[in-house]
Amino acid sequence: MIFITSEITKLVIIFIDLLAMETSESVVIVGGGLAGLTAAIHLSKIGYSITLIEKNSYPKHKVCGEYVSNEVLPYLDWLGVNPSGLKPANIENIHFSIQNGASIKSKLPLGGFGISRYHLDYALYQKAIENGCAIIQEVVNSIDFIRDIFTVQLANNDILTADFVLGAFGKRSNLDQKIERSFIQKKSPWLAAKGHYKADFPANVVGLHHFKGGYCGVSKIENDIVNICYLADFNSFRQYKSIEEYQKHVVSQNPFLNAILSSSTPLFEKPLTISQISFEKKRAIENHIIMIGDSAGLIHPLCGNGMAMAIHSAKIACELINDYYKKTITTRQELEEKYEMEWNRSFRKRMNTGRWLAKLLHQPQLSEIALRIIMLFPALFRLIVKSTHGEIIKIEGS
Ligand SMILES: Cc1cc2nc3c(=O)[nH]c(=O)nc-3n(C[C@H](O)[C@H](O)[C@H](O)COP(=O)(O)OP(=O)(O)OC[C@H]3O[C@@H](n4cnc5c(N)ncnc54)[C@H](O)[C@@H]3O)c2cc1C
Repeated sequence: MIFITSEITKLVIIFIDLLAMETSESVVIVGGGLAGLTAAIHLSKIGYSITLIEKNSYPKHKVCGEYVSNEVLPYLDWLGVNPSGLKPANIENIHFSIQNGASIKSKLPLGGFGISRYHLDYALYQKAIENGCAIIQEVVNSIDFIRDIFTVQLANNDILTADFVLGAFGKRSNLDQKIERSFIQKKSPWLAAKGHYKADFPANVVGLHHFKGGYCGVSKIENDIVNICYLADFNSFRQYKSIEEYQKHVVSQNPFLNAILSSSTPLFEKPLTISQISFEKKRAIENHIIMIGDSAGLIHPLCGNGMAMAIHSAKIACELINDYYKKTITTRQELEEKYEMEWNRSFRKRMNTGRWLAKLLHQPQLSEIALRIIMLFPALFRLIVKSTHGEIIKIEGS
């Protein structure tokens, strides 16, 4: 038995060595949401051949507030992606309220645009295909790193090899379990629901309205459609029989949410829901996989910055991979250290602000006092909003 096992191990190693000899400049991206598709477009634009594996087909609706910070616009432009062609809503103002109806309005420092994931992800997918990326629709079952080479096993038993794997598999995946990431062991009591509606709502405002146990974002996307998306503590949800009951008895306790929910017409048969959303810290490199987007860390959606971070983190990873192939970075270890450092420098502060805000909102009395203070000093509110976002992403040479 021992003999057989060691012989099999030897064979696997010989197989991997043979594959390693054949491999040159190969990057596999696992997950084709915003982070994965952005990375695919970036690397293919600068001449690398890319394989991306995504388990779902395009286009597809996703649970998301669908407000994208304008900080990503110069980078999307560099990638050759033009979101204005999708006719998004142009969002300039924020209206924030707590459950008793006290509220504050302000201009968003950078502003953003409202676009459905259905259309945005699909536009990126089409761009990746146009750039020559190979996109495989399949579930990835495992990613292993042996002797400086990755093997990626798909559910149909196909095996791909690569120098680098970008982990872009989102906030929670079967792969997090396989890699035994620490966040997956902990309970995560958050669920989220999203629907599209026909409703009377200003196109240039994002509403962020707090209710007991959660908060709800309201904003317009393309075609005059309103996105209503909320995050809720499972403990506050479980005593109700259905989403409808919960919306009626809890979400609608906020007068702004009551007004919009009671006057809108749903465009989905029922809201899309997801559960077990975790805001635990994650590592940006895990088993040598370079994590991008939510795989590296999910910012509290209250900040409306997860999509910008997914896009930005892809840029950071792609530039470092290019530096490695161009030999300005000489070892894998150096690349990994630089990525972790750059990820923390770019995102750690806003992740912490998001966690702090979420904690504050979980304490109704404290959040009411805090909002009353903020109302006296609107500049403080603008400062908090600013610290949940990044600066405009700079493109070299522009
Ligand atoms: C309730 C809520 C509201 C939000 N609102 C906003 C907002 O208004 N603005 C904002 O900027 N951000 C918002 N976010 C955050 C934003 O949705 C995420 O940050 C963003 O989707 C991250 O993109 P991603 O590419 O990392 O992950 P995803 O878009 O989730 O993509 C991951 C992809 O990996 C695929 N995948 C997973 N496992 C496998 C596997 N084993 N094999 C193959 N494929 C796999 C999945 O199918 C998926 O397509 C919100 C999040 C939540 C939960």
